[in-house]
Amino acid sequence: ATQRLKDIIDIKPMTKDGKEMELAANISSLKELDVALSSGTDGVGLFRTEFLYMDRNRLPQEEEQFEVYRSVAEKLEGKPLIIRTLDIGGDKHLDYFELPEEENPFLGYRAIRICLDKTDLFKTQLRAILRASCYGEVKIMYPLISSIDEVRAANALLDEAKRELAETGHRYRDNIEVGIMIELPAAVMIADLLAEEVDFFSIGTNDLVQFTLAVDRMNDQISHMYEPFHPAVIRMLKQTVEAAKRANIHVGVCGEMAGDLRALPIWLALDVDELSMSSNAILPIKERLLCLEQEDSRSTFQQILACSTSTAIHEVLAKGYDSRS
Ligand code: PEP
Ligand code: MG
Repeated sequence: ATQRLKDIIDIKPMTKDGKEMELAANISSLKELDVALSSGTDGVGLFRTEFLYMDRNRLPQEEEQFEVYRSVAEKLEGKPLIIRTLDIGGDKHLDYFELPEEENPFLGYRAIRICLDKTDLFKTQLRAILRASCYGEVKIMYPLISSIDEVRAANALLDEAKRELAETGHRYRDNIEVGIMIELPAAVMIADLLAEEVDFFSIGTNDLVQFTLAVDRMNDQISHMYEPFHPAVIRMLKQTVEAAKRANIHVGVCGEMAGDLRALPIWLALDVDELSMSSNAILPIKERLLCLEQEDSRSTFQQILACSTSTAIHEVLAKGYDSRS
């Protein structure tokens, strides 16, 4: 980072008019944790655990996972650590795990759907996370949730995992927080109901944009249609955050949009609690946050809501950007 950015590492992320925002890191390996810590992160808002399962020839065992989760929790020294349960399938495959060839892998057998089917695999991970919860501020997050039933089924398995640990004399934090990713339009539409079941939301804009617009996030031919600032996406974001606020639960964002400087006024206007991003975005986002005002962002957002096209939205956001930089 440049000296200017290094100078703000220890400053609390807050707008000029006092709106605080947790700026957390997305990590998918232990190495990335060091980069996150040296960027002054407020925690880990998304620990992608897939790497533990990939590039090997068998499933990782409970003990091995526990060691990794514990070491991350300890290094964070009490800062929050959101561990996302396995989000495999879609574009990510496991050599030792026969996943059927699918016509539409992103709409297929993946993530929480696999975990609710292969319950031993899921409970092994849950036990490892639960055991690590004694070593820091560990939270559990389920990906790709589309219904209340999935949340309840996952939580029932979490209860089983707790019982199994208790029976074998292992310690864990009984009141560990449980949250979900909001990354499917279905989850947005029932966000009010989901908010009654969980402790927090984290909006996964990468998948949410993909599924809202039906634009494959990996397909270069249509990448120009992958538009995070589409009015439909903006309405999804608004509906989700408002549902969380009404239910009084914590709401964060962990997709790429969280680290996009242009989107910052949107999060401020909606009063999001946390932004989790790749570590190299943390300081630039903080620098920008420090010179914005939540009150200004609210009027910017009103203008955005009045826009009928993404082009118009980009114009509104670019205007705010110029006048304050
Ligand atoms: C997302 O979908 O926005 C997200 C953060 O998860 P991933 O990119 O791992 O699918
Ligand atoms: Mg996702």
